[in-house]
Amino acid sequence: MFIDGKWKKAVSGAEFGVFNPATGDLIDRVPDAGPRDVADAINAADKAFPSWSSLTAYQRSQYLYTAWKLMLDRKEDLARTMTLEQGKPLAAARNEIQYGADFLLWFAEEAKRVYGQTIPSARPDQRFIVLKQALGVVGAITPWNYPVSMITRKLAPALAAGCTVVLKPAEATPLCALEMFKIFEAAQFPPGVVNLVTTLDPKPVGQAFVSNPIVRKLTFTGSTQVGKLLAREAAGNMKRISLELGGHAPFIVYDDADPVHAAKGAVLVKFLNTGQACISPNRIFVPRHMVDAFTREFTMRVMAMKPGNGMDAGVKIGPLVGPEALLKVEKQVKDALDKGAKLIAGGRRLTEGALSNGYFYAPTVLTHVTREMLIFREETFGPVAPIIAYDPEEDVIEMANDTVYGLAAYVYTKSTSRAMTAFERLRFGIIGINDINPTSAAAPFGGMKDSGMGREGSREGINEYLETKLGGFSI
Ligand code: NAD
Repeated sequence: MFIDGKWKKAVSGAEFGVFNPATGDLIDRVPDAGPRDVADAINAADKAFPSWSSLTAYQRSQYLYTAWKLMLDRKEDLARTMTLEQGKPLAAARNEIQYGADFLLWFAEEAKRVYGQTIPSARPDQRFIVLKQALGVVGAITPWNYPVSMITRKLAPALAAGCTVVLKPAEATPLCALEMFKIFEAAQFPPGVVNLVTTLDPKPVGQAFVSNPIVRKLTFTGSTQVGKLLAREAAGNMKRISLELGGHAPFIVYDDADPVHAAKGAVLVKFLNTGQACISPNRIFVPRHMVDAFTREFTMRVMAMKPGNGMDAGVKIGPLVGPEALLKVEKQVKDALDKGAKLIAGGRRLTEGALSNGYFYAPTVLTHVTREMLIFREETFGPVAPIIAYDPEEDVIEMANDTVYGLAAYVYTKSTSRAMTAFERLRFGIIGINDINPTSAAAPFGGMKDSGMGREGSREGINEYLETKLGGFSI
């Protein structure tokens, strides 16, 4: 772990293993933090806060630039660690490193654009001045599915704002976090500004983040269930929170869309990270008369995707993260088939040859999916594409909005009027119009409803780590 500028073992000496999801092999062991370690990290961040927040924005920016450059220098090693530990194909891991580095660059620049304001007063003797100031110590919790970019998406704006941070990465992917902290160490961030605790049981760390009076803010990316639990406890202690939670993205194909273009886009975004992405489509809506043509094109492309170890050339679909993820996918597929869905492709674990010790599930296509099925409601987080026929067109926005989630949605149409209507009416925070990658460090990322609160990236991202302070001056 990295606490107060030093690499440390857990005070208890405890460790836990990190495994490769493609082979089941033990890769390494890392410290298993207990309450003392977490308290040490929070205290170190507290001690570092006054001087870090007093640096000029230009000085903080320099640290972020240095980290950005180091991250690009070490891109290949970082990508290999990610594929080994998380399973995604190497090319996808490289893309994630680039996306992750983008946040360091973006917030190195945004650090210098934290503007206050002056406000005219009705009183001639009075002046109002508004300052934006760093919140204080931030506790950050990140998931395993994007184990590098979720770190920089939180830490870069927090550090740019002048906050100090304690990060707890997911227990499945601590090695990516360790590599990132080697970069922060090499960038010579002052001791205590960035701290890392790794732990197998996340609950005590979560508890410390929402109850320790030193921590002023919790930023969390993960499941809606855990996000709500932490939010309830944070409320009791009046902590600020930002939550990036689950999703259940609709992918709407209108009947004027090019079916080949739409199917190509749907396959790429559905099977991104083996479906383990919060912006992954979980319901693909196709006009009833186009379902056969769309499904043929879609399935042909799915069958061309090679599953396997992400280190092997040509592999497009890696393993799932673990055995529970496999069980969840199996349960949803069985439920759908029991209720009348048709299996067009996949629908089974892959256990042949080298895949036998990993957590592989065949890319799966289901048609005749209806609202009664679990898969229509629950986030799958796996490589299953449910195709839903709609008719008439007026129904589709209501069907798409029929979810507690509100993160991402996709629309394929050539009509500007349909595109604009869908953009305005869909209750989701991110809408891709004929576009399967509506994400960038420059653009606000975040959800509505049960998908969370707050935005990461963009001009808005840094606000999550700032307080507004009003000065009323009588002269
Ligand atoms: P998870 O909620 O189980 O775990 C996420 C993180 O929370 C991990 O670091 C884990 O250790 C920690 N955690 C778990 N229980 C905790 C507790 N009781 N107290 C404190 N911390 C706890 O979710 P997951 O399965 O690892 O991640 C997948 C989820 O993350 C999906 O629902 C996905 O949609 C969501 N996600 C959202 C975004 C987004 O930006 N909206 C991005 C990536 C993933």
